[in-house]
Amino acid sequence: MRRGLIMVYTGDGKGKTTAALGLALRAVGQGQRVLIIQFMKGSPQYGEIKAAAYLPGLTVVQKGLPTFVKKGDPAPEDVRLAREGLELAKEAITSGEYDLVILDEINVAVDYGLLREEDVLVLMASKPERVNLVLTGRYASAGIVERADMVSEVREVKHHFRQGIPSQAGIEY
Ligand code: ATP
Ligand code: MG
Repeated sequence: MRRGLIMVYTGDGKGKTTAALGLALRAVGQGQRVLIIQFMKGSPQYGEIKAAAYLPGLTVVQKGLPTFVKKGDPAPEDVRLAREGLELAKEAITSGEYDLVILDEINVAVDYGLLREEDVLVLMASKPERVNLVLTGRYASAGIVERADMVSEVREVKHHFRQGIPSQAGIEY
């Protein structure tokens, strides 16, 4: 029986979502079934959405709008989609259909008030032994960090954004 882990990628530097995608690639290569749920994202332009079409065993679902969420004043649709994402996550981790479930930007969804921390903690507690669970996004809450087995913080040392370089295909999306 595999010892499944809860892993968190947080911090203010670039590389949290890409770290989770790297783990997804590794798991797919091992014949594992992977579900990525992207919170607060709703654009079909992401490379990982397109790549999933080529990779059996990888499913990517977006539960957000393509527009930015307003901190402190989220649109009702933002909240509804985030809650849908959490429900899907619950079903997915207990279904036995996935070895790895990645909740991309869920930390931000909590920080922005789209989801309650308590509900995410309940989800973490309900994880069956064998499933690996990953939570990404800056501002991981203290409770989430406390209950994770592994937490890595990506710290910004430099970001090309500060040179005015805009987001690019294959780098940012
Ligand atoms: P990536 O998706 O590239 O792995 P990330 O998940 O670590 O980045 P997020 O906090 O989710 O980063 O930010 C989403 C977007 O903001 C990404 O396009 C990323 O390049 C950009 N970004 C990340 N860190 C910084 C930063 N320190 N300054 C400016 N933009 C950033
Ligand atoms: Mg990210």
